[in-house]
Amino acid sequence: MKEVCPLCNGIQEIIKNCKRCGGDMIDQGPIVDYLDNYSPYLSNDITQLVDGVSKNECTHLFKCKECNHDKRISIQRVEI
Ligand SMILES: [Zn+2]
Ligand SMILES: [Zn+2]
Repeated sequence: MKEVCPLCNGIQEIIKNCKRCGGDMIDQGPIVDYLDNYSPYLSNDITQLVDGVSKNECTHLFKCKECNHDKRISIQRVEI
């Protein structure tokens, strides 16, 4: 058994509603990508080492496609 982020691994797709305009907020990928010179896919192990990131959660950046409002959302890891 291994705990992985369902979004990073393509198991699940999550779309959030924008609080500002009600539009669709699309997953922009895990937040570590933005902290580390934008490397497209970091392993989950590296993700877990980032300060402030809980072991059981992967923080993703969601961005509204209507108004560009963005928000960090913690995604619970799931066991596979
Ligand atoms: Zn993730
Ligand atoms: Zn919006």
